[in-house]
Amino acid sequence: MASKLPAVRLNTIGQIEEHGYALRLDCPSCARGADVDLPALLRQLGRDFTLPELRRHAACPHCGGAVTLTMRLEAAGTRPDGHPMAIRLKPRR
Ligand SMILES: [Zn+2]
Repeated sequence: MASKLPAVRLNTIGQIEEHGYALRLDCPSCARGADVDLPALLRQLGRDFTLPELRRHAACPHCGGAVTLTMRLEAAGTRPDGHPMAIRLKPRR
C-alpha cells in the first residue's frame, strides 16, 4: 500500500523558512528573477506574513511589474547567482 506523504502546510513566510524552502521571484515583464532574501523578508514583514498576501503585494523592484513566486526545497537545487531580489510591496489600499 502506498503511504501518503504528510502534507506540509506552507501558508506563511515563517513556515517556508522552517521547512527549508527557498522563495524565488520572477518578473515576466523585464525577465529578471532571483531568490528572495528570506531572512531579510522575515525581518521586514514578520514570520506570520501570509503567502497570498505576499503574492498580492509583491512587485518587481526594477520595473514595478507583477511578479510570480515559486517555492522549492532549498536543498534540492543550487542557488542562482546574483544578488537576491528584494520585494517591493505595493501600498495597501
Ligand atoms: Zn520587472
